[in-house]
Amino acid sequence: MHHDNSPADTEMSRLEKKIYVIADEVLDILKQLSRENKRQLNARLIAEKMFTKDTVKQMLTHPAREKCRDGKDFSPLRTIADGVLDKLSELLPSFMNEKFRDLKDRFDDDSILEDSTVWLNASIRIVRKYIDSISNKNKELELFIQQTIEYLSETEQRLMGELSARHEKFNEDRAFEKDISEHMSMIEQDFSSGADISDIRKAVLDKIENINRSIEKKREQDMLRLRETERTLQEMGRRISDIKKEADELKKRAEEIENESFHDKLTGLKNRKAYDEEIVKALAGMQRYNVPYSLMICDIDHFKKINDTYGHKVGDLTLRKLAALLKERLRTNDFIARYGGEEFAVILSHTTLKDAVKVAENVRSFINDSLFSYKNRKIPVTVSIGISSFRRDDDGTTIFERADEALYLAKESGRNTVKTEEDVISRQSILN
Ligand code: GH3
Ligand code: MG
Ligand code: MG
Repeated sequence: MHHDNSPADTEMSRLEKKIYVIADEVLDILKQLSRENKRQLNARLIAEKMFTKDTVKQMLTHPAREKCRDGKDFSPLRTIADGVLDKLSELLPSFMNEKFRDLKDRFDDDSILEDSTVWLNASIRIVRKYIDSISNKNKELELFIQQTIEYLSETEQRLMGELSARHEKFNEDRAFEKDISEHMSMIEQDFSSGADISDIRKAVLDKIENINRSIEKKREQDMLRLRETERTLQEMGRRISDIKKEADELKKRAEEIENESFHDKLTGLKNRKAYDEEIVKALAGMQRYNVPYSLMICDIDHFKKINDTYGHKVGDLTLRKLAALLKERLRTNDFIARYGGEEFAVILSHTTLKDAVKVAENVRSFINDSLFSYKNRKIPVTVSIGISSFRRDDDGTTIFERADEALYLAKESGRNTVKTEEDVISRQSILN
């Protein structure tokens, strides 16, 4: 210390005294806290204690504007007190600036990560389900699905990375706390060492400096991590919305393909594959609920001749028109499929053989009366229909065979007519 009487030196020694007062108070608090709350040393506690000290409070609320030797404004009291206070306070999230807090909240919000994980799992399940269900393998779609799965697993990995980064941060925080409390115990040791008071002061001031450095380092670490987290969160958000979009498209395409695979392109009716599935369901329904079902096979008469006379294109148009007429005439609950070339199968639920004959007759006469024409030339279109009715011991083959036999009988009997399995039996008994 200088003992000149130059005004600058007088000023500095006055400042130095104040610095020591503040340092004393700070150290007193630290010492007290390190004794009382060694395990739960907490920055908020330190900050609160400091504000209970009159000397500190006074100096903080009325910071003396001091002039530095080079003439610049300088407030060493404020610098020390603010430094110690601020830096300790920054340990707490509530003292951090808005953005940091906001991001930290987002990062700490488990629901974001959990929601994403749930969503990801659900998406992966959808994709897998579709892969399993699509028997009609489409190379392009397979590739697309493959890419989406890769995309999903990548995002899943990012989420896992994010989770482990949080563990890392937790460990860093613990290390930091340990560091601070070690400094604290060192301060305490200095106090109890019984050395000269000015040596203690110096040692303690050094240690405060160390604490400040630790805090500064920690803050830098936190800021760095915060920026990383911010980037990762944004990237994740983008990826997730990309994946959602892709999953939606994928779902739509899979539905389209599924739809295509069960429909006939030319007529828009259900196809043979759909029929094969439906007949199994209908048989199960009949056996379970004891509901009568009938099967109707409807075949265009002399269709070959239509093709030969008017051309294949007209044949196609005829098939389309016939499909439309069937749809128009039958109930929405009736299952209509294009079974083969010019052959249509209709499953009628809640319909006995007798009722099915009425439906079939209705269809037959309706088609007979409808006008099929091409370039003003009338095309004669009629159908023959064979009917069977479900029996408890039926399977898809037996039920179809009986209707087909009835259809054959209808053709034999001159076409444009309806025959049933019962007609087949009576005819057999006549022949026998
Ligand atoms: P029947 O009265 O005995 O049923 O005689 P038909 O000529 O209708 O029966 P046949 O089985 O001899 O001929 C069916 C024809 O239907 C033969 C085939 O070329 C034609 N056909 C099958 N599918 C299509 C198609 O998608 N479009 C067209 N235009 N013709 C088809
Ligand atoms: Mg035919
Ligand atoms: Mg045929």
